[in-house]
Amino acid sequence: MYDNFFNKITTINYIIYARLSKEEQGKSKEDQSRSIKNQIIMCKNYIEEEKNIYVDCLFTEVAILKDDGISGTTFDREDFQKLVSLIEQKKANMVITKDLSRLGRDHIQTDDYIEKWFPEHNVRYVSIMENIDTYVDSVSNEIAPIINWSNENFARQTSKKIKKTFKNYREVGKWTGGEPPLGYKIDPQNKYHLVIEPKGKEVVERIFKLALENNSLDKIAKILTNDKVPIPSVIKKSKRKSLSEHWSSQSIKNILKNEIYTGNMVQGKTTRLNHKSKKIIYLPKQQWNIIQNTHEAIVDKQTFDSVQLIFKSNKNKTIKSYDYLLKGLIKCHECNHAIGIQHYKNRSKNYTICSFYRKYGNKMNVCTAHRFSYEEIEKLVLKSIKKNCLKFVDKNALIQKLNKRDYASNQVFKLKEKVEKGLKEIAKLNNQLDNIYEDKLNDIISIEQFKNFIKIKKNEIEYEESQLKRYNDELKKIIEASKENFDVNKIVDDFINFSKPNKLLIVKLIDKIFLNQNGTIDIYYKIKPPHY
Ligand SMILES: [Zn+2]
Repeated sequence: MYDNFFNKITTINYIIYARLSKEEQGKSKEDQSRSIKNQIIMCKNYIEEEKNIYVDCLFTEVAILKDDGISGTTFDREDFQKLVSLIEQKKANMVITKDLSRLGRDHIQTDDYIEKWFPEHNVRYVSIMENIDTYVDSVSNEIAPIINWSNENFARQTSKKIKKTFKNYREVGKWTGGEPPLGYKIDPQNKYHLVIEPKGKEVVERIFKLALENNSLDKIAKILTNDKVPIPSVIKKSKRKSLSEHWSSQSIKNILKNEIYTGNMVQGKTTRLNHKSKKIIYLPKQQWNIIQNTHEAIVDKQTFDSVQLIFKSNKNKTIKSYDYLLKGLIKCHECNHAIGIQHYKNRSKNYTICSFYRKYGNKMNVCTAHRFSYEEIEKLVLKSIKKNCLKFVDKNALIQKLNKRDYASNQVFKLKEKVEKGLKEIAKLNNQLDNIYEDKLNDIISIEQFKNFIKIKKNEIEYEESQLKRYNDELKKIIEASKENFDVNKIVDDFINFSKPNKLLIVKLIDKIFLNQNGTIDIYYKIKPPHY
């Protein structure tokens, strides 16, 4: 069984609520108590049946509450208020009554509880007689007996219809959101399709690049703010103005985690309980609508995956603004909990600490501090990587590979192709020109036709030649630029000597590091070095 947030529930804490209805209040004391008793028995039987349906759930009775002699038109009943407070304290996640009128007679307020208050508090409400069960489907549940039939019903139906249409669109990868994410705009020719918005695209590319270089979210936000890069709402000329002009780490995170930048349409991440509730619910990833290749990508899949890998390893971070190379990778050998890194402002050193010890060590005498210089441990790990992995790297093979994958050389290749094609085209046009002269000489065409053909062909040749010049200029530029910036040898040397250790490489190489209480470490590699 699942709650409204689609988390699996294994414990159901239920409240049985009984109330005397108006007619019964006039009856004898005996009749009244029998009525209450009957209501409770019915509810209990219902729970017994539930236990057979949800066998892996543990059912616990939190309370049996009853209000007698108090009108159902007010919710100011003693036990009903108890019910409210138990739910607010998160002590119960299910409420059961015999029928709706037990809950209340004021249908607007009752409605409110069923459609809004209970769902928002993650409470399942069951009314046995009307067969109402808010768990079954919070939207489609027809609670006819208490619906305010006029506007309410209309709003509900419309909301359902719109929801359905949007759902259909999302399933085929049509954009149904409002404002597209930074870097995209709505295609002027098709409002369900996204196209690149160049200014935003540039910023998105830069953010991914900074993340790959292992800058923390905070740091990326700072860099962009310092460089006076406008925030997304400004770039997008959004109607909703942001108060701050500073980039926040949250908006950086949203961008870096958004798969939409790989060209896949990702929608349906959130939902609302129903048309009345404003509360947004985040759905688990299995329920999102992800359609591949619906629009042009801004980052390639490999870059995106690498950034997600860095995210994963940074999950157990202890101090936000400091980014440690080994953050999230070290575990306590003794108790298997994460090893945190403590930073002291007035000291230059950072220290490791077992997070389990830090939390419970004093109170419960668990584990030991595992307090060592973080810098020393980092040194040990880097040394081990160098020794165990990098010495097996074939430098020449690496250089060759890098050269092939080099973006610049790829561009050069493409341009050279274009130049060749252009030269062929010009030769062809010149040939045609010769033919036209011949035709003129043989009186096959008139002087008018001749003049016309010449004009057309000369224009075409002129165009091709100008293109050719453009390609050659570009080619020259790229070759010169790559001479300055791209020294494959140096990059490979840096890599092999690990002089610029980077988080991504470490995450790819190392699964986890165990820190022993005597200060030694055990490193578990994801890849095994070859044996000789
Ligand atoms: Zn420990």
